[in-house]
Amino acid sequence: MIRRFAFLLSLAAVVSAPLAAAGKIKALIVDGQNNHRWQVTTPVLKKLLEETGLFTVAVSTSPAKGGDMSVFLPNFSAYRVVISNYNDFKGDPWHEKTLNALLDYVRKGGGFVSYHAANNAFGFSKDFTELVALGGWAGQEKWGPHVYWKDGKLVRDDKPGRAGHHGPQHAYQIVTRDPKHPIMKGLPEKWMHSLDELYDTMHGPGNIDRMLGTAFSAPEQKGTGLDEPLLFTVKFGKGRVFHTMLGHDLPALECVGFIATFQRGVEWAASGKVTQKAPPDFPTATELKVRK
Ligand code: ZN
Repeated sequence: MIRRFAFLLSLAAVVSAPLAAAGKIKALIVDGQNNHRWQVTTPVLKKLLEETGLFTVAVSTSPAKGGDMSVFLPNFSAYRVVISNYNDFKGDPWHEKTLNALLDYVRKGGGFVSYHAANNAFGFSKDFTELVALGGWAGQEKWGPHVYWKDGKLVRDDKPGRAGHHGPQHAYQIVTRDPKHPIMKGLPEKWMHSLDELYDTMHGPGNIDRMLGTAFSAPEQKGTGLDEPLLFTVKFGKGRVFHTMLGHDLPALECVGFIATFQRGVEWAASGKVTQKAPPDFPTATELKVRK
């Protein structure tokens, strides 16, 4: 009888561990090198996902610059979605087998989220540039033109120029371009985003599936005078990609607009659905809203 009770106890322990995470989406953040403060931003991204109650979040950190990158090989297929907070702007590219494993994972249906400077990565790879559709500061001009938004559609500007630029950080307005997409549903047409870089002149194949949000890159902020793509989705094989160019540092991550689009974008990349309601404290066309 005692043995039987002990057996039941151990069975209960085995069953309850997975039950605690039952139905949660397994997400993986990859970091370790970045010309941004990834040591500060990764814990914030992790917390933002966990506080939705929808995710369990693991972090995989690469060796530091100059380390043996061949040992960095996360088991991507154990997760529904991979979020990149990594770039090789001043660091090391991933080992070929690691980059290929990520690309295969997404091609087979995995979710991928490119967060801010993650699109400053792996410009040598045509496939990675296609995964993110647009990138900068890594020679992506060789894979396609500057792509921007005008009169409700994508415009490809073939004039020669380098990929990637931004003016000084400032608060700016995002315009929702696809209010029916699950990531944007219920959010206002125009909303203020707090202090951040506004990426412009991003280049690449521009294989954007749905344009979710753009911002006007003002000449007085050393911008292009064009509506630049900042939030969009990409189809890559059977996988879903959510690309957010927002999030340079902590002030940008405190913006409720960043928070909600990130939380929703990760859920959508993982599952194709968004179950999260629009938050009541969302910014308006003129008013910033932040959570400290
Ligand atoms: Zn930045």
